[in-house]
Amino acid sequence: MSSSSLSTVRDAVAGGGGSTAAASRDSAGLSPAAYRLGVIAAVALLALAPLVVQSFTVTLLNYIGVYSLAALGLVLLTGIGGMVSFGQAAFVGVAAYATAWLTTRHAASPWLGLAFALVVTGLLALVLGALTLRLKGHFLSLGTLAWGLSISFLFGTVEGLGNFNGISQIPPVSLGPVLLAGTVPMFYLIWSVVALSLLLAANLLRSRMGRAMRVLRGGNILAESLGIDAFRIRLALFVIAALLAALSGWLEAHLSRYVSPTPYGAGPGIEYLMMAIIGGSGTLFGAVVGAAVIALLKNAVQDWFPVLFPGAPGQLQVVAFATLFILFLQRSRDGLVPALARFLPTVRRSVPPPAAPLARRAQPTRGEVLLSVDGVQRRFGGLVAVNGVSFDVRAGEIVALIGPNGAGKSTMFNLLTGALKVNRGRVIFAGEEISSLPQRAIARAGIARTFQHLKLRPHMTLLDNVLLGAHPRLEAGLVAGALTLRRDEEARARAEAMRLLERVGLGDRPFERAGNLPLGNQRVLEIARALAADPALLVLDEPAAGLRRQEKTALADLLRSLRAENLTVLLVEHDMEFVMGLCDRIVVMDFGSKIAEGRPEAIRNDARVQEAYLGGVV
Ligand code: ADP
Ligand code: MG
Repeated sequence: MSSSSLSTVRDAVAGGGGSTAAASRDSAGLSPAAYRLGVIAAVALLALAPLVVQSFTVTLLNYIGVYSLAALGLVLLTGIGGMVSFGQAAFVGVAAYATAWLTTRHAASPWLGLAFALVVTGLLALVLGALTLRLKGHFLSLGTLAWGLSISFLFGTVEGLGNFNGISQIPPVSLGPVLLAGTVPMFYLIWSVVALSLLLAANLLRSRMGRAMRVLRGGNILAESLGIDAFRIRLALFVIAALLAALSGWLEAHLSRYVSPTPYGAGPGIEYLMMAIIGGSGTLFGAVVGAAVIALLKNAVQDWFPVLFPGAPGQLQVVAFATLFILFLQRSRDGLVPALARFLPTVRRSVPPPAAPLARRAQPTRGEVLLSVDGVQRRFGGLVAVNGVSFDVRAGEIVALIGPNGAGKSTMFNLLTGALKVNRGRVIFAGEEISSLPQRAIARAGIARTFQHLKLRPHMTLLDNVLLGAHPRLEAGLVAGALTLRRDEEARARAEAMRLLERVGLGDRPFERAGNLPLGNQRVLEIARALAADPALLVLDEPAAGLRRQEKTALADLLRSLRAENLTVLLVEHDMEFVMGLCDRIVVMDFGSKIAEGRPEAIRNDARVQEAYLGGVV
């Protein structure tokens, strides 16, 4: 195994995206070679298991493997992408029935059954996803419940699918001349598929598209402000989860050689969710652990319930099972894998080595009008938050937008970046009207922003947070990510993100989680992320809020050095000393209207500004 694929397995075990370790432990962690030995030993142990354990245990392990695949899909969809789906069992069922139908009714090879199952399930997911994924939160989950129920209902009622009797005599899978009919051969097939899926999923999560998937939980505004098409990524994630369910269904059908409607209803759909949650819905390996725990727990309840409660009706087993689940949730919210990973040694990570820079965009000529805001208005119900404001920003300038709280500054920024739509007026950027463009198109056109209320991904490392900004400059797609086909591009992006971290003064801890940083550092981290997009215009909403004095000085120096490189900056800031010393021009807003515009000295002496806003402060 190559060292890069090993490190992805490590991430699969350690937390999906390589973000579990505190920076201080990185330098003291296990060497990659020692880690490799550990993985080889674990795989060897698993491979030997069927030779030493009882046949019943092998069967149990087979089902754990089958369930882990469906749970892995849910870890990606729910844990990573934040979409709670009750419909995973329905996808497992569609695949199981697809291969059952093709191999029994048309005597096709199970391998053809696999292709058929993947295509049918993938297409169905594409259609259902396109219909339901625009729904948010509970509505989305209810949507998955609705079609999950309808699909499982279909299995029992369609004549050609054997009604409630299902389909039996499904042929076993064969590999060349070898028939994989018994539990032991199936063990090797199932666990090879599980290992391969884990590896590909871990690769994917570390790649450009995987980072985009991990940003979905931060909300659409964040994803779109980074130039990421949130809906497309959601849909891709949904289809990937369904394809993993399809693998599970195909294996299950040829393992038990029989399909019936019961295992694919709403109940099992909830069980898959439980597996993902118990294992740790943010970690890929949590799928395997969760599947194992649920399978063993069900067995244990079945064995022990009649002993502990003799004479109690069997249906109460479900209650016992649910009680155990609730107790578990109260003890360990993040799931077992993150809880256990704390006791495992971490693997040393090395700082990305320097690499050729990524291509840069052609910057506009210094002094020409880059952004033109023309009579822009925005209402919220009866409130006019921005009222016919016009101003220009020239390339290479630092312009401040100031005004008292509630003046409409953040709203103005949201209008410029497309996070909100203007009611009237126009915004022209680099000669093109952008007022009606979607947010991500504006981001791609070269406006990068930070947020007054920070939008970072707290569980991702500093390095990964910065890499998010580079999304539109990179090309690697889903397949390239899963197969690590674009290593060169990725290495260049990582080197660039590392340079930016160093530039904003956070280069000493690239693998720290963003959420562990103090507020001031989080602000400059957002700036680094914005810079990773190689913007022409940087829009910063209160970048100095929460910064200490030296940090403010460092930030002002950074912005000056960016200006020297021809970058244009528009910022909102309350610290007048900071603004006066740094900016070329100031635009003042009050109650949604522009009340003054000019050079800092002129603004300082403007009677209207003093009256409306500054009082005697300046
Ligand atoms: P500033 O950033 O200058 O402090 P904002 O742009 O955040 O001001 O807000 C301007 C006004 O618009 C405020 O009165 C605020 O309450 C209102 N406002 C801002 N966003 C919304 C929204 N999404 N819905 C309703 N009112 C809003
Ligand atoms: Mg604001």
